[in-house]
Amino acid sequence: MPKQKINKLLIGTNNSGKLREIKNLLPKSIKIYSTSAFNLRSPVENGKTFRDNSLIKSKYFSKKTGLMCLADDSGLEIDFLDKNPGIYSARWGGRHGDFNKAIRRVYRDLNKKDKNWKNKKIKARFICALSISYLNKKIACVLGKVEGYISDKPKGRNGFGYDPIFIPLKKRKTFGEMKPSQKYKMDHRYQAFRKIKKFL
Ligand code: IMP
Repeated sequence: MPKQKINKLLIGTNNSGKLREIKNLLPKSIKIYSTSAFNLRSPVENGKTFRDNSLIKSKYFSKKTGLMCLADDSGLEIDFLDKNPGIYSARWGGRHGDFNKAIRRVYRDLNKKDKNWKNKKIKARFICALSISYLNKKIACVLGKVEGYISDKPKGRNGFGYDPIFIPLKKRKTFGEMKPSQKYKMDHRYQAFRKIKKFL
């Protein structure tokens, strides 16, 4: 654990949806820096797990800027698709991050596996690994999850990524149909933040 309270922190993401959500979860006393101010490209995410990729990002952005960095790696695991897209969640959207394309692939793969999948509960979860690094040193790394299932069609226009097809357990609405404030209070990033708070 760092000896001093953290008072400035770089958020290691080039994804504006995530940046917004992470900013809202951090104590207001911390001065936040975003990667856009430094004009940095994202590193190659060649880890095998969410934790590996989160640490690759927080170390890379910290070394590039000299600032302590918080980064996440997240994605959607669908049990029926052998936990895919998993760490490939962003890549399923292709080079331009087209989430409609990623969602079409989910439905295509489900149909390929079982024409009757809509009559089953397709269990899934969002996972978020959050890490804080200073240069090459890991300060903390935690995992947060939200369990749920896949909707039989995309619903709602809120959020980003796979939000329109994910229904959290005990709810009827997809994340895409929920108000952002409702989603933020239960999602995988929020769960991970609860765990990493003691390091801030
Ligand atoms: P990352 O930037 O490598 O962590 O990519 C994570 C990918 O997982 C995103 O591009 C989205 O496709 C998906 N994802 C992560 N968190 C969420 C979420 O809260 N809602 C919807 N999709 C998400």
